[in-house]
Amino acid sequence: MGPPGVGKGTQAARLKTLLGVPHVSTGDILRASMQERSALGNEVRGFVESGRLVPDALMGELIGERLQREDAAPGFILDGFPRTLEQVATLERVTGRLGRPLDKVLMLVAPESEIVRRLSGRRTCPSCGSVYHLDSKPPKAAGICDACGATLVQRPDDTEAVIRERLRIYEEQTVPVANAYRERGILAVVDGTGDLDAVAERLTAGLGPVRERS
Ligand code: AMP
Repeated sequence: MGPPGVGKGTQAARLKTLLGVPHVSTGDILRASMQERSALGNEVRGFVESGRLVPDALMGELIGERLQREDAAPGFILDGFPRTLEQVATLERVTGRLGRPLDKVLMLVAPESEIVRRLSGRRTCPSCGSVYHLDSKPPKAAGICDACGATLVQRPDDTEAVIRERLRIYEEQTVPVANAYRERGILAVVDGTGDLDAVAERLTAGLGPVRERS
């Protein structure tokens, strides 16, 4: 967990390779359903594009379904879930049913000025999901995805007004989630500034020993 733009998605993708378990990003799942114009996508579009949270009941269904799939049987990395105390309770029910409690909650942190800088320069590929940054990770040809050649876009929720709204919502709703996990003794707070390798190393250290996969 951590505020929008702190590097959760980037680091989770690296951890996925390291641990050999799927990276379950609720933001990615919602954006994919919006792109497909599925019933779920149409239902959540207004929330996602304005930076508000999708209702808990809908998110509970989505995560319950996703974590039951076979690829998540050996474990999973959650990115962007849970974001509210109600989602913490839902997740506990789902993981209880699966017999797979959370090993660890890693919280990435960075100063707000750095987050706004990162998010406003972020560009993403709507086709393959690659992520770039205008200053720190520009594509080889301006506006074009290196990996698949599609035209890069700015997420509608990465504009400055929406970024501020997302940060406000994060503070308000997600900080109590961190406190809940701190009380359970499984929260590790990790510095999200500096280069990608340094952050990845800190995260791996914060993860500590994980239970053996069955
Ligand atoms: P993200 O990619 O994690 O920044 O998520 C983008 C947007 O998707 C958020 O601003 C919310 O509108 C929605 N979203 C993602 N995960 C959740 C969640 N766990 N609960 C509610 N809304 C979510």
